[in-house]
Amino acid sequence: MYARVLAAAADGRLPTPSMSQWDVFPWEVVDGSLAPKALTAPGIEQPRIGEPGGAPCGACEGFAPESVVWEDEHWVLTTSQEPTGLPVVLILWTREHLDVGDFDDEHAAELGRIANRLVRIIEAMPGIGRVHVNRWGDGSSHSHVWFFARPAGFAQIKGSHAVDWDDILPPVPDDVRRADLHAIATKLANWGGTARV
Ligand SMILES: [Zn+2]
Repeated sequence: MYARVLAAAADGRLPTPSMSQWDVFPWEVVDGSLAPKALTAPGIEQPRIGEPGGAPCGACEGFAPESVVWEDEHWVLTTSQEPTGLPVVLILWTREHLDVGDFDDEHAAELGRIANRLVRIIEAMPGIGRVHVNRWGDGSSHSHVWFFARPAGFAQIKGSHAVDWDDILPPVPDDVRRADLHAIATKLANWGGTARV
């Protein structure tokens, strides 16, 4: 991965990613120094995708087949259609509109089992330092849990900032990415469900 970084930028300083233009990006340069943006007054909480008044839910119409890594009766594991900067980025979705907090015990146990297995599988892969498991849920009505695998040995790519580095780092080559996803999906399917990569 570091060779790809140096090939893209000899001094290791990669281009600013598009997230710096997002409304939710909290930083801006003021008088030559980085500073938090001014916080505006609160408004009305907006509906998410798939909620009454929100945008139509594309996930209910089906996940893009090329993004699906693994699936079973209740869950769909996807990755982004574009290559990621971090070695592995996966999202585990419910098929229905459900949130963490809404699950019955059986469904909650399924989430725990799949998450535990996924982390174990990915952290056993060469070059992986740790897998971060994150749930935000401000966009879609389908519960979706993120799995961000950070590379081993990079002291700067730790904790929540690993997510920022996913947008900064050069993309993983597609053949490497597909091979890694195939290995993960195949191992996860040993416990159930179907590998799709
Ligand atoms: Zn939906």
